[in-house]
Amino acid sequence: MPHEIVTIPCLSDNYAFLVHDPVSGATALVDAPEPGPILAELKQRDWTLSHVLLTHHHWDHIDGLGDILAAHPARVIGATADAHRLPTLDTALVEGKTFEFAGETVSVLDVSGHTVGHIAFHFPDTKAVFTGDSLMAMGCGRLFEGTPAQMFDSLSKLAALPDETTVCSGHEYTASNCAFAASLGDNDANVVKRISDTTDMRRKGKPTVPSQLGLEKLTNPFLRSTDPALQQALGLQGATPVDVFTEVRKRKDNF
Ligand code: ZN
Ligand code: FE
Repeated sequence: MPHEIVTIPCLSDNYAFLVHDPVSGATALVDAPEPGPILAELKQRDWTLSHVLLTHHHWDHIDGLGDILAAHPARVIGATADAHRLPTLDTALVEGKTFEFAGETVSVLDVSGHTVGHIAFHFPDTKAVFTGDSLMAMGCGRLFEGTPAQMFDSLSKLAALPDETTVCSGHEYTASNCAFAASLGDNDANVVKRISDTTDMRRKGKPTVPSQLGLEKLTNPFLRSTDPALQQALGLQGATPVDVFTEVRKRKDNF
């Protein structure tokens, strides 16, 4: 059974998400940037948290947790590899492990790169993946701890999910990611359209997150390493996909 997703803007450009099952009332929060907007959303909908899912240890994804748990004593789930630097976990998971959320079997993917120990949560029935700061709309997280090869591997796992998967990522960075994509200069028609759509949405104050995985695979420069047009624009015709990814990530770091 698919579940309902609610997107909650937090801080200056973060997103938290609620996954809700109207039948049982079960409600999961994904990431806890700050308590105010999350508690307000729960109150307005009269929902009580049953689960909190943490993608990684950065403060802008966990700092709201204490105040949220004080009001909603939910089960906290995060990565075994990050247990030493996350708030106390009730359930620690590694890639390949699953847990049940209101009848849906949620699986965990290791998507290290931005940090080592970063995980994503895949809800196959809801057709959604919560990617934190790994795969983002038109971008991917900066490599603070992992290597380009690790992030490439992580993004490849996410790209292997069904195209109709909703990508719920942690930040509203899409406009600047689009400016970077334009700078690569391969003039792909899908990329050009996405840049103009993004400009329109931001001008109207609309969020660009979540996005669809199929569109990310067509337009996100970090998922287009095998695209001959992008390779040519980079002067990397015939290079290995991981080398193309590494060059795109390096250019973004210096953009
Ligand atoms: Zn982060
Ligand atoms: Fe972040």
